[in-house]
Amino acid sequence: MKVTILGGGLAAISLAYELQKRKEIENITILEKEETLGGLCRSYDLNGVKYDAGPHIIFSKDQEVLELMKNLLEGNIHQTRRSNRIIHKGILVQYPFENDLSKLPLEDKELAVNAFVHNPYENYEPKNMLQFFLKTFGEGITNLYLRPYNEKIWKFDPSFMNTKMVDRIPKPPKEDILRSANGETVDGYLHQLYFNYPNEGATFSLIQSYLNKLTDKVSVITGCNLKEIEKNSNEYVIKYNKKEIKCDRIVSTIPICELVDLVKDEEQNIQKVAKDLKYNSIMIITIQVSKDLAGDNFAFMVADKDVIFHRISKIDFLGEKYHKNNTVTYMAEITYREKDINDMKTDEEIVDSVVQGLKKINFIDDETSIIDSDIIRFKYAYVVYDLNHQQNMDILRKHYTKMGIYLHGRFGDFEYLNMDQVIRKSIDQGKDFK
Ligand SMILES: Cc1cc2nc3c(=O)[nH]c(=O)nc-3n(C[C@H](O)[C@H](O)[C@H](O)COP(=O)(O)OP(=O)(O)OC[C@H]3O[C@@H](n4cnc5c(N)ncnc54)[C@H](O)[C@@H]3O)c2cc1C
Repeated sequence: MKVTILGGGLAAISLAYELQKRKEIENITILEKEETLGGLCRSYDLNGVKYDAGPHIIFSKDQEVLELMKNLLEGNIHQTRRSNRIIHKGILVQYPFENDLSKLPLEDKELAVNAFVHNPYENYEPKNMLQFFLKTFGEGITNLYLRPYNEKIWKFDPSFMNTKMVDRIPKPPKEDILRSANGETVDGYLHQLYFNYPNEGATFSLIQSYLNKLTDKVSVITGCNLKEIEKNSNEYVIKYNKKEIKCDRIVSTIPICELVDLVKDEEQNIQKVAKDLKYNSIMIITIQVSKDLAGDNFAFMVADKDVIFHRISKIDFLGEKYHKNNTVTYMAEITYREKDINDMKTDEEIVDSVVQGLKKINFIDDETSIIDSDIIRFKYAYVVYDLNHQQNMDILRKHYTKMGIYLHGRFGDFEYLNMDQVIRKSIDQGKDFK
């Protein structure tokens, strides 16, 4: 059996790694658009400091996957304790917000506790993300932090998003909220309290570790401009650049809204459904400055709409190989959508807005401390679970299963998947693949 995998990110590479073990598979070809593999797991360099497209930490509830990632990295990995903060009205509140209420200004704290204890939304069945927040945390915590932060990152009203992202968040017990308001900071989201990260080489080193273990059953073609996919009886013909490849099976890890344009004579309804899927793009702005005003912390969430980024991370926190003497490297993340106000800004304007944001949160005194900056953009970064997502994906999955095209990966299967979940699906597909 000959298999072609469209796209060359983690989903493609981890699946190729699993499929190469299968005797009946003769060869596997990965077709990647860019010159470099890795997709969202690619890493970049600013004056010797390696960084990711948003810091990619390694954590998982899935022990088998976590062990696999550690084994692949062969010792190039270390564990760190999370130290994340929310910047609320200039105050650092420990993440998650509800576990450190005593840090809030008195009137915000009283609002948060009162609305949690006397919550009129408690007995409703939530039908969207906003309703879930109101039911689970009350109006105070929702309006002080959850609502503005989620509006900022999703660029989408949470009442138009379903509960898939949030419905596993447990409702905090009343006692925990009261303890947190009385000054006892409680650790939350324990599965990611400790996380792993490569000692050097940033997240791409995980991709490189996989690549090192691919056998000659797997070939990789980069710089591949896919043109058309056609199904002839039992065989697929994929046209790219000025060539074509024939295979028995296709796995698509490329965004499904782009796959529909490649499939010859694709049904119009399928095109329409795929184009209705919502996603966010991201800009990653990395800035090196001369003075550390962030303390021994890693990521900071900023819900304030006057600050352009929703999250800023101090890369130095990830280990000595990510620190350059006499500098601090910050990474700001800004989500956007095609033709929105951020998309229309030039790189210079974006960097300038990030600098204004850094000043507002007191991470720099003035522009003179800036040494260098860099900006990268990813069109496909976050799957948005809007109210139509499930229905749209049910239609698309049914259609491509019938066609014999396997959908895989964050945008291939259009699910909000972290690296561990992508790898889990690769392991499972590697076993079930027919
Ligand atoms: C800001 C951010 C932070 C994240 N942080 C974490 C984290 O801390 N921990 C974690 O576990 N996960 C994290 N993730 C998730 C992680 O990046 C993904 O789970 C993983 O990279 C998905 O891999 P993929 O192969 O499915 O998709 P992608 O990486 O998107 O790969 C798709 C590939 O297809 C290629 N492609 C697209 N179109 C075509 C085409 N027409 N022809 C050929 N090739 C094409 C692309 O170039 C790309 O290489 C984060 C993601 C983002 C955006």
